[in-house]
Amino acid sequence: MRLMPEFDTPDLNAMQADLRTLASIESPSGDPVAVQRVMDVVEDWARDLGAETHALGGGTRVFRFGVQAGQPDRPVLVLTHADTVWPHGTLEHMPLRVDGERLYGPGTYDMKAGIVGLFHALRALDGHWPRGGITVLLSPDEEIGSPGSRAHIERAAHEARVALVVEPPVADTHALKTGRKGTGDFSLTLTGGQHLHA
Ligand SMILES: [Zn+2]
Repeated sequence: MRLMPEFDTPDLNAMQADLRTLASIESPSGDPVAVQRVMDVVEDWARDLGAETHALGGGTRVFRFGVQAGQPDRPVLVLTHADTVWPHGTLEHMPLRVDGERLYGPGTYDMKAGIVGLFHALRALDGHWPRGGITVLLSPDEEIGSPGSRAHIERAAHEARVALVVEPPVADTHALKTGRKGTGDFSLTLTGGQHLHA
């Protein structure tokens, strides 16, 4: 029988410091090198927690916690992304700002705070991984529709028992997001020659 650990109260100062670290590195989707800089920090956190880390190609990384080859149980998949919608230079006119318990700034909400929250939760598990372990997938291109990571995400989802996405919740509900409508791109071609007059 495995006992669940006692959870400490979240250390908001440590979480804020980690979020500041990630948010201080601007990582627009269009700059893969900058996005990889954020991933390097997250990979260090993952290694500290004993993860096996893998680069999947196209800039996607995977961190496995307690996932054993040939195990009977499928892992829990957690999807994250390291890119943001904010171009380089945004921090100059929108610097990181602390107000009480909250840190504001470009990319904090979507979704660097999600990554920080996840890693503090992983740390709180203290090696008591759920059956099947946990696979964390970090993609570099979510904000532009995941062109390079989509295949990796689909494969990981097929192998998973359950998938969580640590995107920010709607408004201020603080609830875990359990559904997502997704996005789509459409091209419309209109042809015709007749004017209709009302
Ligand atoms: Zn996002």
